[in-house]
Amino acid sequence: MNTIKVGRPGQSGETGKQGQTGSFSGLGLSESMLKSLSAMGYNEPTPIQRKAIPLVMEGRDVLGLAQTGTGKTAAFGLPLAQKLLSADTARESKSVRALILSPTRELASQISEALKMFIRNAHLKVALAVGGQSISVQQRRLERGCDILVATPGRLLDLVERKAVFLDQTGFLVLDEADQMLDLGFIHALRRIAQMVPPQRQTLLFSATMPKEIAKLAEAFLNDPVRVEAAPPGKTADRVRQ
Ligand code: AMP
Repeated sequence: MNTIKVGRPGQSGETGKQGQTGSFSGLGLSESMLKSLSAMGYNEPTPIQRKAIPLVMEGRDVLGLAQTGTGKTAAFGLPLAQKLLSADTARESKSVRALILSPTRELASQISEALKMFIRNAHLKVALAVGGQSISVQQRRLERGCDILVATPGRLLDLVERKAVFLDQTGFLVLDEADQMLDLGFIHALRRIAQMVPPQRQTLLFSATMPKEIAKLAEAFLNDPVRVEAAPPGKTADRVRQ
């Protein structure tokens, strides 16, 4: 597996032809996405964004070692949204084109809000499926299908059991904060969900730590992944390409 280590946000890191330092242009994002980013004050990609975005655009599976605060949401959210926009396949009822799993309803809702900001100039439907909220309201929202579903594993399985959502058309699977999901006991739920998403999907896994269990999960869920590491805040940037 290739490993790319990058610095923390605010450190530009190495320059290169692809994704020049100081700009989001050159990473394969559309004008409308670039406009949204500049309106949000995202003027320059963080190191993990600069590395991960082109890899996701190329179709690679990515294993990202990155904490909250490194800009990892945009590192997977931007290229994912861009690929969905470019493919422009029709949404089928109760289907999901891209699934993002998150350990808690708060994190899931933050991801969904960030995605809506990235794609505010585009027509992509983002849905949220988390516990603590009416399942029948979520069920209704999923009836006509969605482009991106951000979900906690337990609520997603409840919706699957109700036949409110089907994952057989899902081409992208993102596991965010995978170590937290394991700590919360979601391992069986993750295995069940990963089996429902067709194997020819693109899979991205982000985790703040890389214990053995995460390495095992990555081996089971990812296909020839590139490992991208963001140095934790406070650590000197490590700009080594192995
Ligand atoms: P995350 O690690 O994805 O939770 O992001 C941490 C914070 O950094 C969030 O408030 C983002 O809105 C912000 N952020 C992410 N990427 C950038 C960027 N390229 N420029 C400015 N802010 C950013």
